[in-house]
Amino acid sequence: MRRMRDTGKARLRLHLRAERALGLGALPVPAPAPAEPHLADTPAPVNVRSAKSTDLKQAAAVLPGKPLKVLMPMPIAEPFTSAPLSPAQKKIRLAELDENEVKGCTRCRLHSTRTHTVFGEGDPNASIFFIGEGPGENEDLTGRPFIGRAGDLLTKMIVGVGLSRDQVYIANIVKCRPPNNRVPAPDEVATCTTYLERQLEIIRPKAIVTLGLPASQYMLQTKSSMGNMRGQWHSWRGIKLMPTYHPAYVLRNYTEETRRAVWDDLKKVVTELGMKVPARK
Ligand code: URA
Repeated sequence: MRRMRDTGKARLRLHLRAERALGLGALPVPAPAPAEPHLADTPAPVNVRSAKSTDLKQAAAVLPGKPLKVLMPMPIAEPFTSAPLSPAQKKIRLAELDENEVKGCTRCRLHSTRTHTVFGEGDPNASIFFIGEGPGENEDLTGRPFIGRAGDLLTKMIVGVGLSRDQVYIANIVKCRPPNNRVPAPDEVATCTTYLERQLEIIRPKAIVTLGLPASQYMLQTKSSMGNMRGQWHSWRGIKLMPTYHPAYVLRNYTEETRRAVWDDLKKVVTELGMKVPARK
């Protein structure tokens, strides 16, 4: 009980510090979050952990008349406290989350232009969880993540380090396609990642691989560059996290250097988990 109170106070302090840094004194502040780490169920919130003041103004401009809701900072340093689930329980909980919440979600503007939500797929008991940016056209049409050209390359990258796609789990920071494949807006990401965080809490992978800048910056709550982040171990709620290039970036920069960089990054992940990596072809 005392620990819960202390955690709440620590999170409130973090929140207030983030607010002061962003000059957000005038925005409505929610009551201290409960001990449960899930983010609040509010429409189109803005995440003070990642948003710059310009992002906040932009979000306000696209949502005229709606007050900005400020989320409590995600405790990325705090490991999950809920009990780990069995593989069968994980499968059921993921299906429930998708069926009961994600498929009908209307919590941000992206729902109005989507064909299908793209929940994620793979082994509910996976050791490695890949996180991309958001569905593209093929994914929107089918409801499956990473199945276009970038998806084919991701599959090759996974196979290249001795795994198969169905041994890992693959999802995105947003579950609906941003129109014209634009980068998801900060408030869309802040709203939607509650689902991703719950997927991660259910699956509890041993390692996370973030693909590209938006996913890496969001998960690590940083504005650092891909060059600075990739190839190094980071941590998210006690889970090892490795940022690497997004396969779409690799397709646009199809050089030995970028392909080698991704292979090196994934090799580190697979080796860290005690698995053998085949020689690079
Ligand atoms: N790019 C992503 O980031 N995610 C997908 O699902 C497809 C392409």
